[in-house]
Amino acid sequence: TREEITYFGAGPASLPTTVLQNASSAILNFQNTGLGLAEHSHRSALSNDILAATENSLRSLLSIPEDYAVLFMQGGGTTQFSAVAYNLLGYWVQTQLNKANGDIEVVREKLKKAKMDYVVTGGWSQKGSEEAKRLFGDGIVNVVTDSKKGFGEYCGIEEEKKWKRTAGEDNVFTYYCDNETVDGVEFPGFPKSLEGGVVAADMSSNILSRRVDVSKFHIIFAGAQKNIGTTGLTIVILKSAILQTQPTPATLRALYLPIPPIMMSYPILAKNNSLYNTLPIFDVWIAGEVMKELVAAGGLAKQEDVANRKAGKIYAAVARAPGIFKVVPLEGARSRMNICVRAQPAELEGVFLKGAEERGLLGLKGHRSVGGIRISNCMPCFTSLFSCILWLTWKPADNSITEAGVDKLVQYIDEFVQKNA
Ligand code: PMP
Repeated sequence: TREEITYFGAGPASLPTTVLQNASSAILNFQNTGLGLAEHSHRSALSNDILAATENSLRSLLSIPEDYAVLFMQGGGTTQFSAVAYNLLGYWVQTQLNKANGDIEVVREKLKKAKMDYVVTGGWSQKGSEEAKRLFGDGIVNVVTDSKKGFGEYCGIEEEKKWKRTAGEDNVFTYYCDNETVDGVEFPGFPKSLEGGVVAADMSSNILSRRVDVSKFHIIFAGAQKNIGTTGLTIVILKSAILQTQPTPATLRALYLPIPPIMMSYPILAKNNSLYNTLPIFDVWIAGEVMKELVAAGGLAKQEDVANRKAGKIYAAVARAPGIFKVVPLEGARSRMNICVRAQPAELEGVFLKGAEERGLLGLKGHRSVGGIRISNCMPCFTSLFSCILWLTWKPADNSITEAGVDKLVQYIDEFVQKNA
């Protein structure tokens, strides 16, 4: 049963049971309308209210500044690899064109030196950089740092002073992945050397797990299926200037640049309140329910505490057995969300995973591209004063991965070590 297992998969991740219970009645008969939520028109007043409430909760959690827009999209994080590059190149082109008083020849010259900077610290940022090359050519992509070259594998973040950044207005944007889900590498904070630039970040696997200064970014995006909700929804937070400063298709054609597909055009989606086409409002509602609870449970400061505590317990358990377990990433770059571990000898990994499964500790196998063991510590967590009151009167509100689930895993790790030391 659901109560007997803890699912440590990286995404889709486990969601709070209370939200799913409400969702199961919402999909049959939403607010006594007789229609399930997935059957209601995305253009109804009811759907508009859901969109507005979900956006408000997100704005409140991340303290999103007024001059930022929020978009709800489909296509996952992967679609954003393309959308970010299209829209930020457009932003750069139009900015340069404005400076040159509309002289397209000047921009054509500037384009020859323009670079999209990619900070490659793992498989997902690598994929982002590959997509930019596929769309715009190898020449325009500058890999600022590549951890695989620096360390032999994706296990750390090179010192910023070694990064080969593009300076000044030749820099179209800089892109990085805040938490590399497959490799377990997370930035401890905003990279100092990117301060003041046009920066886009993939926060698919650590959004809402800590506080973030949104004003440092031009774009933040995240697929919902790890920390926020169900698969099928992607959240994009972006500076409004990007929407207002875009070239026409004719300008792009004159510069021999590709025109973004309509579903990747941020200005068009924004103008239509994310409803240019049929948006899955049911998924938006689930994300909204989760975020509403997070606001009530003390916001992101609280989530940060819980994430740090749960990850700390797991890293400590692994560190008690250096002869058996080795954390893949180096200290200083270790993810709080995805804890990547190898066991030695390698045969022990299978034994560990099998024993875990027998105890209802599921989803611990490393990503197929790297193997090993991956403990994903996804959010959200609803434990709060509010939920304690609920508990006295009703039942405990729950987390995706409860602290009790983490304790069970830690106990298993300790027992496993005793048996195999
Ligand atoms: N970025 C990161 C950091 C991810 O973890 C993932 C998916 N695991 C993606 C992008 C791709 O997301 P999607 O599968 O939703 O396209």
